Amino acid sequence: PQSLDINRVRADFPILQEHVNGRRLIWLDNAATTQKPRSVIERISQFYEHENSNIHRAAHELAARATDAYEAAREKVRRFLNAASTNEIVFVRGATEAINLVAKSWGEQFLQPGDEIILSHLEHHANIVPWQQLAQQKGLQIKVIPVDEDGQLILSAYQQLLSNKTKLVSFTQVSNALGTVTPVRQIVELAHQAGAKVLVDGAQAVSHMRADVQWLDCDWYVFSGHKVFGPTGIGVLYGKEALLNETQPWQGGGNMIKDVTFEHTQYQLAPGRFEAGTGNIADAVGLGAAIDYVDHIGIDAIQQYEHYLLVYATQLLKEVPGLRLIGTAPDKTSVLSFVLKDFTTEQVGAALNQEGIAVRAGHHCAQPILRRFGVESTVRPSLAFYNSCADIDALAESLLRLRRSRI
Ligand code: PMP
Repeated sequence: PQSLDINRVRADFPILQEHVNGRRLIWLDNAATTQKPRSVIERISQFYEHENSNIHRAAHELAARATDAYEAAREKVRRFLNAASTNEIVFVRGATEAINLVAKSWGEQFLQPGDEIILSHLEHHANIVPWQQLAQQKGLQIKVIPVDEDGQLILSAYQQLLSNKTKLVSFTQVSNALGTVTPVRQIVELAHQAGAKVLVDGAQAVSHMRADVQWLDCDWYVFSGHKVFGPTGIGVLYGKEALLNETQPWQGGGNMIKDVTFEHTQYQLAPGRFEAGTGNIADAVGLGAAIDYVDHIGIDAIQQYEHYLLVYATQLLKEVPGLRLIGTAPDKTSVLSFVLKDFTTEQVGAALNQEGIAVRAGHHCAQPILRRFGVESTVRPSLAFYNSCADIDALAESLLRLRRSRI
């Protein structure tokens, strides 16, 4: 991990100086949301102090500044995902809204009774519920790619689910509950061979690994700004340009139109047709700053450092008596999900919080995959590149202390 200067990186995140219950904050809830570097916080202030205006439709200087800042952010996202064009980058509220957008626009327009959608057993509720709603409405069938005992998708079973009825495969690149990294490219290729479109949920991937939509060749890719060191309330839907343009908008209003009469409306091409109303301009600009920050650290350096940290953490947690790790796929990132014998996950979460250590304890909005492993809830520390070995040591020591308190 020589490529990453952890002390310098940590100094960029003001909240890491925070104290909780008299202890230095140890933020291990990165899968829920990530902390923000000073450059993102300052960029949002700068926008409100010097650039704030609505975009695209005024004659004045601030409208030009705000529009430039917003469109510059779109270009940063394009580069970050290696999309072919900024026309393929739609700003939305987050991954959840992006998936709902595809279900409620493309899904309603193109899917017919009897069509099939394939999801994976790893999905977050955000990539289950919108498809279920659509399936009920349209008479579709949902099929699920199973996982093995390590929490990796079983590709042979996936191949058997695919048929000419399959119209969509929608799955996550990284499981938020287990940390499994799925073989995206292979899944996409097989789906395309069957004539299906593919949506990839990148919510848990973009802060940990390179996401190249042209290489992955997915039809849509979604993520949330707040999970990649940017603000809440802003996220991205990437879609292939021709596909976006043949899809009818889901929300109507200002910005998304070319011409309106009482009889008829002509829509903009993408991305405008999917951005009805005043968007979250300032936070889009903040997301652009977050992407700049990630570029400055280097996503490859981040991935390498986090791999080292995950291996270190896995070793230490395995030494805690009675701790069962759930999710042991060889290809994993960031997440360590576990249960501790004799304790509820709430008790473990509360004990860690007493020592300033923030983890999530619960079902992580992914109940099906936890139930696959026979549990309703896990404790879930999740790593980012600003976590240190000292953070992991504190976590392991705290768990060992808790363990000893029961012997
Ligand atoms: N997909 C995955 C894999 C996630 O982890 C999350 C957030 N936990 C979401 C989708 C939804 O993201 P958001 O709540 O930011 O819309």
